[in-house]
Amino acid sequence: MTKKRILSGIQPSGTLTLGNYIGALQHFVRLQEEEECYFCIVDYHAITLPRNVEQLRENKRKLAATYLAVGIDPEKATLFAQSDVSAHLELGWIMITTSYMGELERMTQFKEKSKEAESIPAGLFTYPSLQAADIVLYNATHVPVGDDQKQHLELARDLAQRFNQRYGETFVIPEPMIAEFGARIMSLTEPTSKMSKSSLVEGSYISLLDDLKTVEKKIKRAVTDSENEIRFDAVNKPAVSNLLTIYSSITNKSMAEAEEHFAGKGYGALKTEVAEVVVDMLKPFQEKYEYYYQSEELDKLMQHGAEKARKVANETLQKVRDTLGVGFTNV
Ligand code: ATP
Ligand code: MG
Repeated sequence: MTKKRILSGIQPSGTLTLGNYIGALQHFVRLQEEEECYFCIVDYHAITLPRNVEQLRENKRKLAATYLAVGIDPEKATLFAQSDVSAHLELGWIMITTSYMGELERMTQFKEKSKEAESIPAGLFTYPSLQAADIVLYNATHVPVGDDQKQHLELARDLAQRFNQRYGETFVIPEPMIAEFGARIMSLTEPTSKMSKSSLVEGSYISLLDDLKTVEKKIKRAVTDSENEIRFDAVNKPAVSNLLTIYSSITNKSMAEAEEHFAGKGYGALKTEVAEVVVDMLKPFQEKYEYYYQSEELDKLMQHGAEKARKVANETLQKVRDTLGVGFTNV
């Protein structure tokens, strides 16, 4: 059976959260065993909002160390930074020229993120086109994402299809991979909005680097509801369902098993056990993270990943340039 080609990226826009772990990283670790995987630090996406330079430098290193510490193995998967492979920007431009204003205006993430900005950066508007380039550059057949990225992936499919229709079969059309549970971990303080690493409300998210006592505290303070029944019902019991989702994702139990496990127990017990499994997962992670963050091995691995990625990306880019009829020399 031919392997799937997987591509997924994470922005170095802050310390990763439990949402990023459950919705993305946890799946990546599993996928690298069976499929051909490309995991990317999408730093050119991160600058679509103004960033402090030192902060970005630190976030980029933190993200690389996080990928490695959760268990991404650079021998199995290709781990690299988007900005180290210039083909992303070239193909990004080509995908912008393939995009329409109307479809970019419909992106809910653009609408949400531009609400906060005084003047709306053009890059924030066109970044889904760059994201489409990130994906098709590696002929990705599948893109594992959380719920929040579904719309962007649909756009990527539309752009790839449009390009193929205009210029002839060039790109593979990528399929989304969205988990049944855990694709949208919610905020602990406001369970109707998603847990996000760029949130300003400290108690709303669990950072993968939070001190373990803080993790416990945040989970114990998480909002619940006025009933006392532990069952999954995302519409009527979003907070409790969120805690159940965290529990089942980390312990690898099905939702039915998780519900059964907590049958007859109270919210106090639920929080204690959720905190326990999260802390047990974070403890070894944080130790490995400390090692990678300060190690030169990280720099070498990222360089190696960039070289592997460039080969694949440049091949696609050359094909696209030939298809379009641009350029006098090869990349
Ligand atoms: P930002 O607020 O800067 O956009 P983010 O937390 O949304 O940060 P991204 O870098 O945009 O993180 O996304 C990284 C990956 O994590 C994507 O695959 C995304 O779908 C997934 N993801 C993000 N938030 C969640 C969440 N709350 N639950 C599950 N998956 C998530
Ligand atoms: Mg996001």
